[in-house]
Amino acid sequence: MKRILAFFLSILLLSTLFCVPAYAVGEKLLAITYDDGPGAHTARLLDGLKARGAQATFFMVGQSAARYPDLVKRVYQEGHQVANHSYNHSQLTSLSTQGVRNQIQNTNAVLDQACGAGSTYMVRAPYGSTNAAVRQAVGAPLAFWSVDTLDWKNRNATTVKNAVVNGAKDGGIILVHDIHPTTVDGTLAAIDVLKGQGYQFVTVQELFRRRGVALENGVQYTSCPPNGTDLGPVQAPSVTVEPAGDKLRVTLSAQEGAAIYYSTDGSPLNQASARYGEPLLVSPPCSLRAVAAFNMNGSRSEVVTQDFTMPITQAPTASLQDGRVALDCKTPGASISYTLAGAQTSDGAQAYTAPMELTPGTTVTAWASASGCLDSAQVQYTYSQLKNLFADVHPQQWYYSAIDRAAAAGYLQGGQGCQFQPDAPITRAQLVTILYRATAEIPDGTPLPFPDVPGTAYYFGPVLWAWESGLVRGYEDGGFHPDQPVSRQELALIFYRYLLHCDVLLSKGDISGFQDADAIPAWAAQAVGELSASGLLQGDAKGNFAPTAVASRAQAALLLLRCVDYITLDRLPMPQELRQ
Ligand code: ZN
Repeated sequence: MKRILAFFLSILLLSTLFCVPAYAVGEKLLAITYDDGPGAHTARLLDGLKARGAQATFFMVGQSAARYPDLVKRVYQEGHQVANHSYNHSQLTSLSTQGVRNQIQNTNAVLDQACGAGSTYMVRAPYGSTNAAVRQAVGAPLAFWSVDTLDWKNRNATTVKNAVVNGAKDGGIILVHDIHPTTVDGTLAAIDVLKGQGYQFVTVQELFRRRGVALENGVQYTSCPPNGTDLGPVQAPSVTVEPAGDKLRVTLSAQEGAAIYYSTDGSPLNQASARYGEPLLVSPPCSLRAVAAFNMNGSRSEVVTQDFTMPITQAPTASLQDGRVALDCKTPGASISYTLAGAQTSDGAQAYTAPMELTPGTTVTAWASASGCLDSAQVQYTYSQLKNLFADVHPQQWYYSAIDRAAAAGYLQGGQGCQFQPDAPITRAQLVTILYRATAEIPDGTPLPFPDVPGTAYYFGPVLWAWESGLVRGYEDGGFHPDQPVSRQELALIFYRYLLHCDVLLSKGDISGFQDADAIPAWAAQAVGELSASGLLQGDAKGNFAPTAVASRAQAALLLLRCVDYITLDRLPMPQELRQ
């Protein structure tokens, strides 16, 4: 008794160690294969298989598949395996290599219309007649059979039923033909009997996968008897959904080794459908379909369908109204909730009723709800120390104070919805604009030579001023390239010229203090050296200047403020006692 207990315990332990699935090893599996169709009786067969939850494999003749394309689609979409039985039922051993290839490839091209390009199709040679040359030319795994029911000869439903029932063996492959109505009746009756004996009906592809046998091209398989492995059916993917802005973020996951195919427009799935990689952003209303597959043709899960009909409440927007923070939601009838000081959860949430007078430095977390809609995503707005309203700048960020001061001084302006985009690259047009605002000089009005700076652009005046002042030059193509991001070495050069333009004295210095001094080009070396010696520029934590890295809007704002302070100090009147 003890020994038996120990035996079961060790099995349990092994199960845990190797993650053996929960279904019992030793399920009886049977692959029924229908040849020579599709035809006039295939639809009725598919109805019967569906009613019984049975899967099968259809070795189709190419010219029949071309005649019944909708049947091929239905076979595939209902999870059966679509397979190749030559184009016109030729004896492949009597054909040349090219002749065999034509038979296979022409049929594959027809099947691809239903299953999607890139599908794999097992092959059964007509009459089961192959040799080494044929198997090689076929270039796919081949299926023979373990039971020949002779249904084409008998044409009697009871005889077919008995042949299937009596021939059934775990792991067997049964040969029948769906072009005969007696075969449709006989096999469906046999399935009823065999289900009572504990059989499951799977595709040939799935029979081998579940028993851990990888099918190889050019090899012909007859059956797959039990071998102690049962990997179980393919599990359907799981779906999780959360709001993300005005969309939904959909995350799919499947068992290890299975690929996920999906569509979001309700279209049926096939091999050519989108492959899932990263979480999807979808806009309701829409319909998601997803399937997990080891092989889309014959070895895949049930299709998961999820309709997202409920619209999402729009996230609240914030604005300043007479120094108060006002929240608004564009979804009709929505109510807005909020918490203060950056709380991330709905704990302590309050209902928003009217514009709020807030202490500078407060962060509001807000979201909106409307009946019949999903709750909006949470958004955060900071009412800053200097009374700016920020959607994307918050007190915990290193550039909070710099952006706050630059915005309060009017050097930086927020875009739509209080977005300052601190991490976005600063463009050449944006850079000269913040410098222009900081100097408050008026350009002379010299004709500007840059054809890519239109007179209507917001940056026309700033570019004109910067060009007249010697801060910027054009490119060889004659353009200014207003939308081009500015690298750190260019940033240094333009600020250096700016300080010279403002007649301030910089400390002499060189670039030797930077770990990556060798990477700094000669044209930028003096600028970088003097700005760093004057305490205006610093390297990163490792002491690198990173000359070719793109400068962010926050970095430009910080450098601008340091320069403004430097200029102010430089222009302070000299104390009386130091004057001579
Ligand atoms: Zn045949």
